[in-house]
Amino acid sequence: MSPILSLRGIRKTYSNGSISLEALRGIDLDVEEGDYVAIMGPSGSGKSTLMHILGCLDIATSGHYELAGRDVSTLSEGQLAEVRNRSIGFVFQQFNLLPSMTAQQNVELPLVYAGVGRAERSARAREVLTAVGLADRMAHRPGELSGGQQQRVSIARALVNNPDILLADEPTGNLDSASTEDVLDLLSGLHARGRTIILITHEHDVAVRSVHQYSIRDGLLGPLETGTLG
Ligand code: ADP
Repeated sequence: MSPILSLRGIRKTYSNGSISLEALRGIDLDVEEGDYVAIMGPSGSGKSTLMHILGCLDIATSGHYELAGRDVSTLSEGQLAEVRNRSIGFVFQQFNLLPSMTAQQNVELPLVYAGVGRAERSARAREVLTAVGLADRMAHRPGELSGGQQQRVSIARALVNNPDILLADEPTGNLDSASTEDVLDLLSGLHARGRTIILITHEHDVAVRSVHQYSIRDGLLGPLETGTLG
């Protein structure tokens, strides 16, 4: 079986005038369908840069990136947006929920943009909110939910389009330890049901909950060493 995601020799150079900085210096990575991968690294190691490339928010300076059987290394902005909307579900540290909308309306939002009709939107949002354990919180606004519950809503929103990959950038960075456990249990449950997950974190305790762990340092990916502290 070929991987759902494959990076070969990915480099990213930022140029500001005469100064250039190599944020990624040749990344190779294969992620199989149904895999749960964590990438851990300290601040400045290249995590955000890699996450932007993985999420089709940016393209590499050089190298090859194949996602769901398609070469996305050289796509235009518009093509990249299309692949991103179809293939990637994003989860962020800051939840990024709209405070005036209920949990259900927040989860329906990607379907509004995708042009899905009202009845189907509602049914799909309710189904995915139930799957993340929030069947009894659908009419609550974010301010009426705990941090862990808000992150569950944002995970439901990321899943509602049935993406190829769930890409979580520091998903527990804003949570207390109980809510962190709650969200990590949910991610493990989703993985057990076949979801492909890539998690980016600077926390060792979070990274070790995944199946395959890597560390990123100075723009290079390596195995995560046991006991490494970010
Ligand atoms: P992390 O997410 O691990 O903190 P980043 O990917 O944000 O790391 O940054 C990796 C390196 O690239 C850092 O040295 C950072 O200063 C540099 N960098 C990131 N974004 C830019 C940019 N837009 N322009 C110039 N340098 C950047």
